[in-house]
Amino acid sequence: MSKHLYAVIGLGRFGASICKELAREGMEVLAIDSDEEKVNEYKDIASHAVIADSTDEFALKDLGIRNIDHVIVAIGDNIHASILTTLILKELGIDMITVKAQNDYHEKVLNKIGADEVVHPERDMGKRIAHSIISSNILDY
Ligand code: ATP
Repeated sequence: MSKHLYAVIGLGRFGASICKELAREGMEVLAIDSDEEKVNEYKDIASHAVIADSTDEFALKDLGIRNIDHVIVAIGDNIHASILTTLILKELGIDMITVKAQNDYHEKVLNKIGADEVVHPERDMGKRIAHSIISSNILDY
């Protein structure tokens, strides 16, 4: 069986953390960012780290993105770039696309254009922590 290939687009705190964890678990991961400094930081962590603008379809094709099984789009602030990147990946036929959403409208658009998984890390983590606070208080009671 061939190895599952991952790519992380956007190496902010969220993307960087996913990239590091995948690499730590021994996964094959391609790290992509338009910022040269970020890419340099990940040269020794990811299997490959490349500078590219993910809104450029030809740049993604040149990188061989079609061979990747699961792409994580971790561009948060630039909603336009996140949506366009997701659309391009979808059209290129990527099997599994996970995207970080910045807000509820962003999430709705991502779902409509066919993102396979939409995550909202700050909101989801906030909910999880609130539940853990409540259950630890119940245990203390
Ligand atoms: P986080 O909350 O995860 O820390 P952040 O605010 O640090 O997010 P963002 O500004 O959302 O990060 O961007 C994440 C990364 O995505 C940045 O390193 C940025 O250079 C990269 N990025 C933004 N647009 C593109 C693009 N079109 N192509 C490739 N990388 C991009």
